[in-house]
Amino acid sequence: MLFHEDTKTITPNAGIANLTFDPDTYKYHFSLSGNIKVGRNVATWSTPMGDYTIEGLNGVLKGTKGTCKNCKACKSSCYVRASYRYPNVIHSQAINAWGLRHAIKKVEADLTEQLENHPKVNIIRINQSGEIENDRQMAMWCRLAIKFPERKFYIYTKMYDIAGKFLDNGDVPPNFTVLFSVWHDVGVKEYEKYSHLPNVKAFVYDDGENMELPTKCYCPAYKIIEKSGKAKMDRSVTCGTCRLCIDSKVPVIACHDH
Ligand code: SF4
Ligand code: SF4
Repeated sequence: MLFHEDTKTITPNAGIANLTFDPDTYKYHFSLSGNIKVGRNVATWSTPMGDYTIEGLNGVLKGTKGTCKNCKACKSSCYVRASYRYPNVIHSQAINAWGLRHAIKKVEADLTEQLENHPKVNIIRINQSGEIENDRQMAMWCRLAIKFPERKFYIYTKMYDIAGKFLDNGDVPPNFTVLFSVWHDVGVKEYEKYSHLPNVKAFVYDDGENMELPTKCYCPAYKIIEKSGKAKMDRSVTCGTCRLCIDSKVPVIACHDH
């Protein structure tokens, strides 16, 4: 997988060009396979990271771009990049982006059906990779959370304006936690405007300098190794068991990685 920072494209490994996608028959779905970070019984939804154009996609997917906008500072070190060595990952994320952009009603119907059929899935992480692109998408996630009030939905976002609009209107239900991504002073003011709301949190990337939003609460999944000073993942911790970001009363959570 090559990221061309100069030309703003991603070139996947060989093999992706043979993958096809029929938007009319495709069944959009959360990933239920869990992963090392989120754990089991957590549904995840992902779209392509960054603002890159993905090379090598065919048919309607040709020219698919990443879904992030406010990502100038984070895309080159984005936690999602490593997963793009597997062509099927970026292909399935491109399908999800296409669905949200062109067939959002079908996406909503399919995801609703999937959750109905999987009652044990009680945590839904929206945009494990990628971002909310517009009001229609945020509205769809809010509607889905309203349909399943006993389940917990959560999202990290730098699209403060979109999230703010829905929070201002009281459209984000209590079982849907919005985490404002904060780094240095970025996102601090935006978070503070909504910090009084119980379902709003700040998730702060602590890179070791100039943390404007101090907290004693750190993500337990990443620990600093004394010798190197670098963050290392503790594989025994999953979001599904930790739940600090999901439904705890802790308003500000910091992390040594992002
Ligand atoms: S860190 Fe988040 S906003 Fe930045 S490129 Fe990755 S997914 Fe997008
Ligand atoms: S604080 Fe807990 S829920 Fe949040 S990212 Fe870390 S492990 Fe996951």
